[in-house]
Amino acid sequence: MNYIEPAPINPQDDDPFESMMSRFDIAAEILNLEPGIYDYLKTPQMEIKTSIPIQMDDGTIEVFEGYRVIHNTVRGPSKGGIRYSPDISLSEIKALAAWMTWKCAIVNIPFGGAKGGVKCDPKVLTPIELEKITRRYTANLADFFGPERDIPAPDVNTNEQIMGWIMDTYSMHHRRTVTAVVTGKPTFLGGSLGRVEATGRGVRVVAAAAMERHGMKPEETSIVIQGFGNVGSIAAQEFIDIGCKVIGISDVTGGYYNPKGIDINAALEHRKSHQGTLADFKDADQVSNEELLELPCDILAPCAMEDQITRKNAERIQAKVIVEGANGPTTAKADPILESKGILVVPDILANAGGVTVSYFEWVQDRMGYFWTAEDVNERLNRILSEAFNAVSDRAEKHNVNMRIAAYILAIERVTKTLKLRGIYG
Ligand code: NAD
Repeated sequence: MNYIEPAPINPQDDDPFESMMSRFDIAAEILNLEPGIYDYLKTPQMEIKTSIPIQMDDGTIEVFEGYRVIHNTVRGPSKGGIRYSPDISLSEIKALAAWMTWKCAIVNIPFGGAKGGVKCDPKVLTPIELEKITRRYTANLADFFGPERDIPAPDVNTNEQIMGWIMDTYSMHHRRTVTAVVTGKPTFLGGSLGRVEATGRGVRVVAAAAMERHGMKPEETSIVIQGFGNVGSIAAQEFIDIGCKVIGISDVTGGYYNPKGIDINAALEHRKSHQGTLADFKDADQVSNEELLELPCDILAPCAMEDQITRKNAERIQAKVIVEGANGPTTAKADPILESKGILVVPDILANAGGVTVSYFEWVQDRMGYFWTAEDVNERLNRILSEAFNAVSDRAEKHNVNMRIAAYILAIERVTKTLKLRGIYG
């Protein structure tokens, strides 16, 4: 099929915040959002930049840059991860913070959106340096964090241990143990059962809902997954459990394709004995990550990183359904191409919301001081994500739009309704 390059939705849509806004703008126009509310929802409530001076192990002093953006707290305390990366920018953090506002509204949990990060390369830091950065970042933000104010969580290159240090540092400053200040903690420190698996499990829950709606039978459905980390590998196991065939997986070392189906348990074992990667995995043919995305399959689940499906490769995608496990794997310019090909895209702000949903459960359990069984967690996760999927599908039908725009419509409706009921103070 020939494809005519669409007029750019937004000339600056390489910028993460502008890319997010270009989708938001379409939804806002359909809803006829009044200009004042539009400005209110677009503008982050607070953008914090803080310097983090650390004495390194060799005695020298280095100053790192930390960020926290609180996008919106109309629906409740802000919620969002903290990423450690040399490449982070304020624009990226702002976009991710806004996505958290929409994501929490879509799954209807009582949180607003935030995101944070520290510009650093964890690969070259020692564990002691990493702990010092985490503690100083937390101390600098101790007046902004809090169970009723802003609740961080793990994101790229941050983990359970780092969340434990955040909880401890905040608790030291407040002279009491405050487990609910952060989620994604070890279960031993007030974490929730099922949190580690939640995002990958959620990817399967919404994919299964999409399959049911479109008459696809699990045992006849082939899956390709990009990324074999937390989200991708759990999603792979979940797809196998419901009877699907996973024919392609990948990680930084490349893609692995076997049309007869990949033995996911063997891949997990391989990862354990190969420093966490799939390097030299033998049960499949090796393909590049670009080729992997273009394999013939029923469902493609990008679960690695942003900007993987772009206007350059969207035309060659063969999947019938894309379920976005990663944040922002599809650029705004790829959206109309996928739509013109009739590909159903279950957008990130719905598809990967399982993580924040179980983070919400963790916060609830910490505040109650009473912990649920894994069955309770999973049953509630299923219910919330299924309801969110149905609510987004209904908006898609009602407004005759794709699921991404429908998800933004639902989020804007819910945040705006709360805002109007609360009124504008000032
Ligand atoms: P992770 O670090 O555990 O795994 C990332 C995987 O992607 C690894 O297998 C890595 O090798 C692979 N990868 C990296 N670069 C790649 C490339 N160029 N091509 C192919 N594979 C590549 O991270 P994760 O927690 O699984 O997160 C993955 C994505 O999901 C991110 O976008 C993250 O923001 C998003 N997400 C994660 C959660 C969560 O709870 N973990 C929640 C919501 C969204």
